[in-house]
Amino acid sequence: MSFSTLCAHIETLVGRDPGQRGCSCLIEPGDLAAAARSMAAAANVLIATGFPQASGEAETDGPPGALALAAALAALGKQVQLVAEPRILAVLTAGALALDRRLTPIPFAEGTAGAFHPDLLVSVERPGRAADGHYYNLRGECITHRVAPVDALFLGSAASVGIGDGGNEVGMGKVYGRIATAVRHGQRVASVVPCSHLVTAGVSNWGAWGLVAALSALTGRPLLHGPATEVALMTGIVAAGAIDGVTGQAALTVDGLPLAEHLQMLEALHALPLAAAAGI
Ligand code: CA
Repeated sequence: MSFSTLCAHIETLVGRDPGQRGCSCLIEPGDLAAAARSMAAAANVLIATGFPQASGEAETDGPPGALALAAALAALGKQVQLVAEPRILAVLTAGALALDRRLTPIPFAEGTAGAFHPDLLVSVERPGRAADGHYYNLRGECITHRVAPVDALFLGSAASVGIGDGGNEVGMGKVYGRIATAVRHGQRVASVVPCSHLVTAGVSNWGAWGLVAALSALTGRPLLHGPATEVALMTGIVAAGAIDGVTGQAALTVDGLPLAEHLQMLEALHALPLAAAAGI
């Protein structure tokens, strides 16, 4: 199986839409392969994640995927910097422990990106501003007061990868015209913030895992963590304050879906012929 065929399989697998949000209309075929190639070629990668909830706490979608990507890129010898609001940093630190990686997330501030000199920007489930300059959740509620303008980094000319599942995240500006009809409240919440390569998934964590699987194939290295590690990661981040963005509960669920469904997705990615597609 060629690398691009494998990536097409991954796009379909992680693009499954259990929340019936309409995200499958927002898939850009071929972008997952291109995103993996840009990651393999990058030296300094800045990863933004975290969709602040009602009191500013982190949700269980975003940070786990961002951490899996950060660990994979660090294993490939790249410099990686995670960035988010201060309230979300504790969750990232707790999750990094489960992955046995020393990743030191930093709070977003003006000049964050410039100081790190990233040659690739990555967003995993980060709010992206809408046409009116405000940030919205998928219920159509304005959340501008609790979002740091991390998405401004992606309005420049740097190469970037956006991962999302709803149309209101950084990167979705690439398919802006489709969001209004594909997604509930789309006209209001659609993000105008574009990216070079867009990975749309049923759950944003799945998109990040799909990219790690593609990176494994591209580099011939087993980079994707297993179900036991994911359970430890989820347990760690929920203990550190992460909640489910759909139910609002501090539970081992993501987007209202039970942990077992996410572990099945990880296993399905592991079952792909990743080694056979290496370097092709
Ligand atoms: Ca989500």
